[in-house]
Amino acid sequence: MRTWSVAALALAWLVPGTGQQPTHITVRFGHLWDGTRLIDNALVTIDGDTITSVEAGGTTPGAIDMSRYTAIPGLIDLHTHITYYWDRKPGTRPLAQPPRRPAVTVFLAQDNARRTLATGVTTIRDLGASGETDYAMRDLVAMGAMAGPRMFVAGQGISAGRGWTPDPAALARQAEDRVKAGSDWVKVYASRGSFDSVDTTQTLTFDELKAIVDAAHALNHKVAIHSYGASGVRDAVRAGADSVEHGIEIDDDTFAEMVKRGTVWVPTIDHNRYYIDAKDEYGFKPDSIQPLEDYVAKNLESAKRAVKAGVKIGMGSDAVYTMFGENTRELEWFVKAGMTPAQALATATTTAAELLDQKNRLGRIAPGFAADLVAIDGRPLDDIHDVIAGVRWVMKDGKVVVPLRAGAEK
Ligand SMILES: [Zn+2]
Repeated sequence: MRTWSVAALALAWLVPGTGQQPTHITVRFGHLWDGTRLIDNALVTIDGDTITSVEAGGTTPGAIDMSRYTAIPGLIDLHTHITYYWDRKPGTRPLAQPPRRPAVTVFLAQDNARRTLATGVTTIRDLGASGETDYAMRDLVAMGAMAGPRMFVAGQGISAGRGWTPDPAALARQAEDRVKAGSDWVKVYASRGSFDSVDTTQTLTFDELKAIVDAAHALNHKVAIHSYGASGVRDAVRAGADSVEHGIEIDDDTFAEMVKRGTVWVPTIDHNRYYIDAKDEYGFKPDSIQPLEDYVAKNLESAKRAVKAGVKIGMGSDAVYTMFGENTRELEWFVKAGMTPAQALATATTTAAELLDQKNRLGRIAPGFAADLVAIDGRPLDDIHDVIAGVRWVMKDGKVVVPLRAGAEK
């Protein structure tokens, strides 16, 4: 039996395509931000899918020379809808497409996944999909059968229909059903608001939110609550949400409560900027633009106060359709809100990894962590824009997923 195991191991080593060949790679970077500090002339050693050492200085023959670049950890986008795909077919719009079978959606959404990897995002939390398409993508990526970021997914979000009578017990059962069906996270819509609507009306009560959170937590699953308005954010935080998505005009008491509880706020400021820019693709009415602009300004105002209050903030793009490829533009808003570039990077690395219960595996370049590395042309700790425009190479789980590409000369 033991002999057989050794033989099988040897075979796995030799036969290409089994996906199990141990690989030993060393890469040299001019600079490296490991998630906590900057290291000059850094040598990273990778065995298989894991980083085994990070050292400063020295020379190693055979190391891949990336000394022109600064390495940062693979980034985490905490809020996507990766199965929302649009093929740009003339006569259609993102929200007016012919129906597709779920398997077709999964196949086509690989394009969103590739565009996401190209931004340096190697992990996403996908917060809402229909037809279990997100479960399928997560599993295919984890199997190595599909190129894409590793995925933590929520399945279908929980919401109240129009004319809904409050029913905490029914919503608790829905949360349990999501977890049983395969959701990693439970996503809840506690208010209206999406696409060209910035309607802040709360749609679920505190008691309902609490029932959902308690049911999910009893099964060891976390909860993300969407609220465009302040009252929904307030109730979501007090109900025990692990993260709150969107939100404006958030009161100082709620921010203080978030600091106390460690609740992560994912403001998704950039997604309304995207809707303004993409208004023609969507066919949004002209009178929807000013409210979107007002929402962005209020979102930023709350973010400034959250930064001052010390609230944990996470990077979520809320990317849908043609926004994939712009996943990290949120970071620029965070710097505008008063963060240093290093603090902004933490929203997409260490803070995000902790929220996903992956703080010993993701969000840092350190021994024992997943070999997710991004080579940046520029100085990301001096100018966050270099993270957005300067991605030249991406590795995920020890495999190059975005080959080295030249950028425009700076
Ligand atoms: Zn969303």
